Amino acid sequence: MAIEQTFSIIKPNAVKKNVLGNIVEQFESNGLKIAACKLSLISKSKCEEFYAEHKARPFFGELVAFMTSGPVLLMVLSGENAVLKNREIMGATDPKKATVGTIRAKFGDSMGENAVHGSDSPTSAAREIALFFERNEIVNL
Ligand code: ATP
Ligand code: MG
Repeated sequence: MAIEQTFSIIKPNAVKKNVLGNIVEQFESNGLKIAACKLSLISKSKCEEFYAEHKARPFFGELVAFMTSGPVLLMVLSGENAVLKNREIMGATDPKKATVGTIRAKFGDSMGENAVHGSDSPTSAAREIALFFERNEIVNL
């Protein structure tokens, strides 16, 4: 299996809980490495572009309002099978349905405020990484 990159966001509710270290530890102990990282406030327009696939969904306005409500930690994670591995470490979208021990089970508050984002495919990962990082901000691991 080749080394892959995936895009991760630690969402505003998890940043507010002061659990960045705990979440990063879960990535690292499962074999993922940080290849790029920055704490940032996302603009409304960038957030709408990022979540464009959900534009017609009833929760879109709420989702964008939440994701721009406070700082987030943007990361590129690198490792074997990184896209799928990250999704497993995060757990199901709804924290109530997420497997015990996953990030969303531990730190998610609701379907909307579910602590983390992770790309759902290598194609999405490439699009999402390019939205938030310049090539020279990403290290080769
Ligand atoms: P993400 O893309 O954030 O990693 P996901 O891939 O598990 O999450 P998606 O279906 O892509 O889930 O939904 C994107 C985000 O939109 C979810 O993480 C969640 O915050 C929000 N969301 C999805 N469904 C709902 C819903 N029914 N009500 C409120 N918010 C929702
Ligand atoms: Mg998604």
